[in-house]
Amino acid sequence: MYYPLTVADFLDRAEHVYPDRVAVVDEPDQPAPSLGSLSYRQLAVNARAQAARLDELGVPVGGRVAVISHNSARLLTSFFGVSAWGRILVPINFRLSQPEIAYIVSHSGAEVVFADPACKDILDSLDVPHKFLLGDDDALYRYGVDPRPWDAPDEAATATINYTSGTTARPKGVQLTHRNLWLNATTFALHTGVSDRDVLLHTLPMFHANGWGMPFGVTGMGGRHIVLRQVDGTEILRRVRDHGVTLMCAAPAVINAALDAVAGWDDGAVPGRDTVRIVAAGAPPPTRTIERVLDELGWEFIQIYGLTETSPLITINRQREEWDGFDSHERARRLGRAGVPALGVRVSLDVDGEILTASNHNLEGYWEQPEATAEAQAGNWFHTGDGGVIDDEGYVVISDRKKDVIISGGENVSSIEVEDALTSHPAVREVAVIGIPDEKWGELVTGLVVADGVTADELIAHCRTVLAGYKCPKRIEFMQTLPRTATGKLQKFKLREPFWAGHGRQIN
Ligand code: AMP
Repeated sequence: MYYPLTVADFLDRAEHVYPDRVAVVDEPDQPAPSLGSLSYRQLAVNARAQAARLDELGVPVGGRVAVISHNSARLLTSFFGVSAWGRILVPINFRLSQPEIAYIVSHSGAEVVFADPACKDILDSLDVPHKFLLGDDDALYRYGVDPRPWDAPDEAATATINYTSGTTARPKGVQLTHRNLWLNATTFALHTGVSDRDVLLHTLPMFHANGWGMPFGVTGMGGRHIVLRQVDGTEILRRVRDHGVTLMCAAPAVINAALDAVAGWDDGAVPGRDTVRIVAAGAPPPTRTIERVLDELGWEFIQIYGLTETSPLITINRQREEWDGFDSHERARRLGRAGVPALGVRVSLDVDGEILTASNHNLEGYWEQPEATAEAQAGNWFHTGDGGVIDDEGYVVISDRKKDVIISGGENVSSIEVEDALTSHPAVREVAVIGIPDEKWGELVTGLVVADGVTADELIAHCRTVLAGYKCPKRIEFMQTLPRTATGKLQKFKLREPFWAGHGRQIN
């Protein structure tokens, strides 16, 4: 028998098995009215009410619905209210600038946009048939009407399109199918041991690779979601204590925030000691950081590696039985590697050391970009753009990035996009944008510029008019010339060299 895998399965099961359990505790401190605590029955009622409203607006199966929002219970609901009825959710990074968001909305062809009240100005500026502020629940939800069923549920249908900055001047829309999301979520939950006793703190933005899949996996197992709108180390520790949090997914910057907070924590025992597991990805955390997580927080540290394009799970590194006798330094050293392939995932290296992967989590394609899709999936392998090695224990270690992408604070920044923004300033003659190692951000977006009569602050302010704040250069170096090859191509490796001297690898 064949039964299609769709994201509806996760909420259906939770509603059936755990209707009266608290499903989600919404962020108390937000501009929309907080939804407080919702049971799985209420979460399912809201998802149906959202779908019924989309029926009323005439959004068809396959129609795109965008949400620009910080983490919230309403955004969590949309993963089901939109996708479980066959429509496509486009979760958008709320930190992006107006032109960036307008591009994504238009490129995805979204007919409906929901936005957090903090993004009202951007919402007002968008040219789309239907737009709503999250919190305006009379407009958002139609209660008491059954939504039209999705007639022919299809696991190969696109469930979400997640825009990600890569090697092109514009972000690309990663199309993930129901099958992609289902298998990523269940495989990830299996490897991290998610159960109905888990309480997940949303330290990861839900828009980023759909919160890596935990909104589905934790729901399917009947765990509890604790929404966190803004990352703050002390607040993370407080919520761990107050809600009995057991699980978090995070970029290394979040881990640093928790470590800073624990140093000043004077409110009794460290929250979550011996009960929290924290799953990190986005950049390889230094061994010392991992060791501090183990010793100072007493949390289990798990590393995964992946991309939005791979839903994202490719590899996982979780302490194995063989390492039980090692001290925390030795365990941290082993956990610093990206990991071993997750169940059902194949990993290989091409002749240049680029990591290739094949699995059922790999994207369907880049939305309306068949050439980019063909290039990324050439030879039936997904080409990650990351360089690495596989060590003698079979663990993948990421060593550099073949693609021209900087990862700052866990978010991708396309060098080309920032170069375009700098070049659009009339005083700029030549520019190269590189990432340089930075304690706080991992990598710092740095502009190397040939220009006359302009200051660094003026250039940064200029970038802020077109780019999200986190993409703008934090540092500008003025140069006489930029090194180029005979054919005029920039030699970025030469530009990076002085900044990366003494670092073992070319990513941070
Ligand atoms: P994104 O699609 O925004 O999630 O970014 C994916 C990129 O983040 C990958 O291509 C890697 O360059 C980087 N990345 C993710 N996880 C890791 C990791 N564990 N170690 C090193 N780099 C990572």
